[in-house]
Amino acid sequence: MNYAVPDDLQGLMNYHGHLCFGVLLGYKACKYAEEIIGRSDNMMVLIENGACDRDAVKFLLDCTIENGKLINRQGKTQSWSVYNKDEGEGVRLTVNPNLANQLPKDKDQAMGFIMEMPGNLLFNVEPFNCGCH
Ligand SMILES: [Zn+2]
Repeated sequence: MNYAVPDDLQGLMNYHGHLCFGVLLGYKACKYAEEIIGRSDNMMVLIENGACDRDAVKFLLDCTIENGKLINRQGKTQSWSVYNKDEGEGVRLTVNPNLANQLPKDKDQAMGFIMEMPGNLLFNVEPFNCGCH
């Protein structure tokens, strides 16, 4: 690998067992959501078409299906909706559709590219209200 891996991502990779686009996008989505709406003990996450990214949500935000803080459902697009109940604020993130055209062909380079990409370029952001408080 020719890029620096942040400590929390390294921890997540160990937890998940490998680095893949799913877990990396989940990581970036959690971090960016946290940047916008902050972090509390009362986070709620709704993911559409979740797979590997569920481990990122569990590792970073402690939201799981088991503890009732994560909802995973099928949708048209992959998305991460994160809601901070304490702040009453939420965001829904979807991957910027232009990303696919910009990605390097090489998988390792593509990972590094996504890792270093700022959240505001990587994701489209919409407000999200979970209606759960
Ligand atoms: Zn994976």
